[in-house]
Amino acid sequence: MKHWLAPLVVALFIAATAAQEAPSLQTLRTDAAKLQPLMQKKTRPAAGDWLAEHPEDGQTFDQYLASRPNRPTAERTTLYIQPIGDFTKAQEPLVKDTAEILRIHFGVPVKVLDALPDAAIPDRARRTHPKWGMKQFLSAYILESVLLPRRPKDAVAVLGLTATDLFPQPSWNFVFGEASLEERVGVWSLARYGDAEKDYATVLRRTLQVATHETGHMFGIEHCTLHECGMNGSNNLAESDHAPMPFCSVCDLKLWWACRLDPAARYTSLADFAKAHGLAKEEAEWRRRAEVLKK
Ligand SMILES: [Zn+2]
Ligand SMILES: [Zn+2]
Repeated sequence: MKHWLAPLVVALFIAATAAQEAPSLQTLRTDAAKLQPLMQKKTRPAAGDWLAEHPEDGQTFDQYLASRPNRPTAERTTLYIQPIGDFTKAQEPLVKDTAEILRIHFGVPVKVLDALPDAAIPDRARRTHPKWGMKQFLSAYILESVLLPRRPKDAVAVLGLTATDLFPQPSWNFVFGEASLEERVGVWSLARYGDAEKDYATVLRRTLQVATHETGHMFGIEHCTLHECGMNGSNNLAESDHAPMPFCSVCDLKLWWACRLDPAARYTSLADFAKAHGLAKEEAEWRRRAEVLKK
């Protein structure tokens, strides 16, 4: 009996390995080329837009490969979300929805760590804004003293999420978020995305857009200057509201490669997620890409 068992186990093991095998780079490049005609060229920046103030060259796929970006490995397997400080009842589902889209978008397990209470940020790392009067946390403190010491061994990156406004240093009014790519930790605030109680859909869309954009940076993707794309730099809320959430074919190619993803299956899952969360525009875009790749 015994000698029957061994080949069966080996066969199962091979089947399991084959199912997880990543598509070849050539296959991924072919898929990206199929999507290219659907992409919309980046529009010229208006005064005050990101590219008007920060001239950037962009990053080709080959430059991305050469940069040896952070990517999931056998040891660094998991994306972590660390909620920090108070969330209102209406804001609470944003954390779960963020975890879900990141799992699909990047194809890695996402774990939400136990929320840290407001009191985890000491007086020396917070202030009341001198003119505006709102409570603010010091983003650099969160990176160095909250996220880094708690970074789990298997973390490919840790994303801090807070509903409290952030400031990077005393001379600044505020910052939407801050990250250390080297340390693989980042923090973003939901404080400026609107009222989740009155307009959850808008706050959700902004939250998911920034979560996918910033996690893209965590995987070494630089700002996109080629297409209208989720990786476009943005200087303000109006500019990021104008940018699409989906990444363009070049930025997605980087992700497919970094995270060993199946492009068509991922687009279908993203479209299903968008449908379930009332993101009609995003659903249509991801759905038509899945259709193109299935042809
Ligand atoms: Zn950015
Ligand atoms: Zn792009």
